Amino acid sequence: MRILRFRKGPESPVMWGWLAEDRIGLLDGSPFAEFRRGEAHIALDSVELLAPVQPSKIVCLGKNYIAHAAEFGSEVPELPLLFLKPPSAVIGPGETILLPPQSERVEHEAEMAIIIGQRGRWISPGDISEHILGYTVANDVTARDLQFKDDQWTRGKGFDTFCPLGPWIETELDPADVMVTCLVNGQLRQMASTRDMVFPVTQLVGFISSVMTLEPGDVILTGTPAGVGPLVDGDEVSVEIEGVGTLINPVRAATRLR
Ligand code: ZN
Repeated sequence: MRILRFRKGPESPVMWGWLAEDRIGLLDGSPFAEFRRGEAHIALDSVELLAPVQPSKIVCLGKNYIAHAAEFGSEVPELPLLFLKPPSAVIGPGETILLPPQSERVEHEAEMAIIIGQRGRWISPGDISEHILGYTVANDVTARDLQFKDDQWTRGKGFDTFCPLGPWIETELDPADVMVTCLVNGQLRQMASTRDMVFPVTQLVGFISSVMTLEPGDVILTGTPAGVGPLVDGDEVSVEIEGVGTLINPVRAATRLR
């Protein structure tokens, strides 16, 4: 099933829905608890899709693909390398990625995202599927110059609009071997399978939950493959996860919108 958050207009209430081809049905209840599915009668192209969750935190993986670590001359870490993005960075499908004036090098990072369904701590490998609601598409937008200038990554990874998520949550994906693709203005930048991940989904959820409680709606970004590159004013960046969907966002210089 594909689960999405949407509204019919800027003044309309935000609703949960489920997708049947190009039609949306209302989800009565919460995808994190009990719900009933209504008949799918709303045209997908008549609504505004929102980021599919409002996470309490976004836990991210650094250097989780060998070829990406090698791009920056690094080895892959012995244990998963974690960092956080703030919830204020989240934007939805079609929303604009704003290039902050403090950076001269903002880059895309195409990533598969895990959406947590049930609260958990010390989640054992056998229980992981009970705690995962599904998967969505993410772009771990990064101010690369600031990431390298600072000793840690909060500033470089944490600007508003630096975490596009969407367009929906796919609950039936097997994440072991799906293609992660990034296009900028229609030109291929990144393409690799999740089978190349150093630490797969089955290990990540247990590892992260041994550190912090995972809450319903929390998001885990599973790392980016090789091929990261710059975004400039006027670009359109498109990230696709095979079996989930495509997340498209325009890119603008923040100063132009002041
Ligand atoms: Zn990343």
